[in-house]
Amino acid sequence: MRMSSLYAPTLKEDPAEAELASHRLLLRAGFIRKQASGLYSYLPLAWRSLKKIEAIVRDEMDAAGAQELMLPVMVDAELWRESGRHDAYGPELMRFEDRHGREFVLGPTHEETITDLVKNELRSYKQLPVNLYQIQSKFRDEIRPRFGLMRSREFIMKDGYSFDATQEGLQRTYDAMKEAYANICERCGIMALPVVADSGQIGGDTSVEFMALAEAGEASLVYCENCGFAADDEAASTKVVVEEGPGDGALTRVHTPGAGTIEKISALLGVAERATRKSLALIAADGTPTVVIVPGDHELNEVKAEHLFGEYHLMSDEELEDAGLHKGFIGPVGLPVGIRLVCDESLRESASWACGANEVDYHYTGARPGRDFAVDAWADLVTVVAGDPCPHCDGVLKGARGIEVSQVFQLGTKYSEAMDASFMDEDGHEKPLLMGCYGVGVSRTLTAAVEQHNDEHGIIWPVSIAPYEVSLIPLDPKKEPCASTAERLFDELVSAGIETVMDDRDERPGVKFADNDLMGFPYQIVLGRRGLERGVVELKDRATGEREDVAVGEVVARVVALVEAARA
Ligand code: ATP
Ligand code: MG
Repeated sequence: MRMSSLYAPTLKEDPAEAELASHRLLLRAGFIRKQASGLYSYLPLAWRSLKKIEAIVRDEMDAAGAQELMLPVMVDAELWRESGRHDAYGPELMRFEDRHGREFVLGPTHEETITDLVKNELRSYKQLPVNLYQIQSKFRDEIRPRFGLMRSREFIMKDGYSFDATQEGLQRTYDAMKEAYANICERCGIMALPVVADSGQIGGDTSVEFMALAEAGEASLVYCENCGFAADDEAASTKVVVEEGPGDGALTRVHTPGAGTIEKISALLGVAERATRKSLALIAADGTPTVVIVPGDHELNEVKAEHLFGEYHLMSDEELEDAGLHKGFIGPVGLPVGIRLVCDESLRESASWACGANEVDYHYTGARPGRDFAVDAWADLVTVVAGDPCPHCDGVLKGARGIEVSQVFQLGTKYSEAMDASFMDEDGHEKPLLMGCYGVGVSRTLTAAVEQHNDEHGIIWPVSIAPYEVSLIPLDPKKEPCASTAERLFDELVSAGIETVMDDRDERPGVKFADNDLMGFPYQIVLGRRGLERGVVELKDRATGEREDVAVGEVVARVVALVEAARA
């Protein structure tokens, strides 16, 4: 490809609407353009990279025994009614009617369609397992489309669905998919953690999200370098280490004027925040006034609390007053009658609490569960933070942020039961098919790769998904010997199977360097007048920034070796 005819309109200025590096760079480098909110056109460079991601996905899926097919984007709303999702999915589902008034949806995912497809065909255990996938545009009317391809309303997804006869079979298929998904991330140059999204009854996982590590990620994670454990911090449980409060263990009332926050009380008592106890008052969904207590250095986890208390809310000032509680000085000892006390599991072994005294400007030290107050329930209540112990080994958890690029999920019989998709098992019993579903965000993977690989000059493509592997930059494309040398190298590279773009534009060297860096081609070969006089060109590695003079006669072989070693 010659840059003079490449359709890649670059922008001089940073687009105002782009907050993330990936969004900004893909717009600036002429890879994507916004059509409307959450709708993007993929220009030729982006499309080449997307095709490469798709090829990697296909390769891994086919190797794992899955078969590609293509389902209609439009789905009869009746199918979504059958599964119960027509109502449950809410306004994210794009709905419309055809000219006859028949209702349809634009598929945000295709469990219904695939279940309907196989339900009268997969009738015997002998036909199983079957694993089918497609790569297609998906539609979700996201409430807040943002960050360009990261969260758009039309996006490219690989969605796959498996059908097995037994739980062991489903587990095998699921494990194979999980492995393929890890390979896909690696081959696309994405650093990702497999994060357990859902644990099964026997301790194994039944859903894993692959999280590309990036500061800009929406998910907040903890992981252990020691054993590989990784989890969403909202879902993770931990053995929080707590410290005992000050004092000799006797219940002691302490005057703590104005010390209504953890920061103030720990400073006043001269102890670490984790040696104090944080009390919150809430009203559970069933109306029960409840005080929850967590270690002073941890927060109440809203998701876990909702599991326990239903749709709860923290008490307002008025509700606190009605309940006889004093903001900043709530504690377990001497709670007004009728208030339930629920404490974090980690505090069970602790025998000396520094906590509010249910009296303005007073705290207790040395408060002891069982002796000084009764706990109605112990529960896992806190959000895990970096520095907490790993729940699976002796390691210490680290914190990170992540972008969900893909997910594997054991659906079990959710759709096959709702939609009556059953088969005959070995003993002649009719049973619902056991399903798994597997999604890769292809366009999100592209943008996650840019989020992970960029610098102040632009994108730094991993070779495996770069739109072109090499750019050839003649600085005097109209003059000899530059012109003919460039043409010759271009022919040789293309013949050697290297995807090459030649910057034949009549532009200043500075403009060419900036554009090639912005677009992020992994290797650049610069042909300058002085170098050519000495018989050399400059080979630049975009990722490391290293430059090296290489003899004109050797550069093609060098580049071929570099590119072939780096291809996925
Ligand atoms: P999220 O939690 O980010 O909304 P999800 O869990 O709803 O995503 P899935 O249903 O698991 O998404 O879809 C599979 C994959 O499709 C996701 O892992 C993600 O990579 C991609 N994806 C989902 N929604 C979008 C979107 N709005 N824009 C781009 N990619 C998306
Ligand atoms: Mg998901």
